[in-house]
Amino acid sequence: MLKTFRADLHIHTCLSPCADLEMSPKAIAEQARIREIDILGICDHNSAENVAALVKAAEAYKINVLPGLEITSQEEVHVLALFDELGPALELQEMIYSHLPGENDEDAFGMQVVVNPEGEVLRFSNKLLIGASTLTIEEVTEAIHSLDGLAIASHIDRDGFSLIGQLGFVPEHLKLDALEISPKTSYEEAMKRFSPPFPLTCASDAHFLKDIGTGFTSFRIERPTTGEIRKALLGQDGREVVH
Ligand SMILES: [Zn+2]
Ligand SMILES: [Zn+2]
Repeated sequence: MLKTFRADLHIHTCLSPCADLEMSPKAIAEQARIREIDILGICDHNSAENVAALVKAAEAYKINVLPGLEITSQEEVHVLALFDELGPALELQEMIYSHLPGENDEDAFGMQVVVNPEGEVLRFSNKLLIGASTLTIEEVTEAIHSLDGLAIASHIDRDGFSLIGQLGFVPEHLKLDALEISPKTSYEEAMKRFSPPFPLTCASDAHFLKDIGTGFTSFRIERPTTGEIRKALLGQDGREVVH
């Protein structure tokens, strides 16, 4: 049976140096419940180190978590990778880490906190998570698909770190599963402005608790999985994105 799931597929935690330190797993899950979000995509910059804690924290709130990362390509384009399980997300993280030069400077960029579900500090990541990987956008999307994940170009309506901002257009050969718009741009406006060659999603890109659920996409699907979301994006088997 098909049900409507409200998904905010682009959420940062306190691991992202630019995110608020209050973005702890429990607080994120609690806020998602208040905002009636059923599926959360947890996508820290170039890392999935807080996903396990989020999965655990979200159980009590009956929220489904899709493990993910927001990867920065060589061209400084942000791309979301979303999976059903933690395993492939961590596998991709290792691949990204081996192509991610530099070390974090906490004073310049912020702290990168790895936490437990309650938000207690476990360690600090010293990777330069805010930096760009040396992988091209093609290599990034290929890597995501080789692990059976969803590849979604982040916030294409923003000037910074987006496909359109960096390249000026959406390369149609990229095999993206979707293009994300921010809540600032309506679906109708985006259709007109971008004539998108891929389906559109909307997400909050929340770095602060108050922003969780301010952007979302409603999917008519059977289960909260990437396979079902892919079908909805393609309009297959009665699955659909509800606009
Ligand atoms: Zn981004
Ligand atoms: Zn983001």
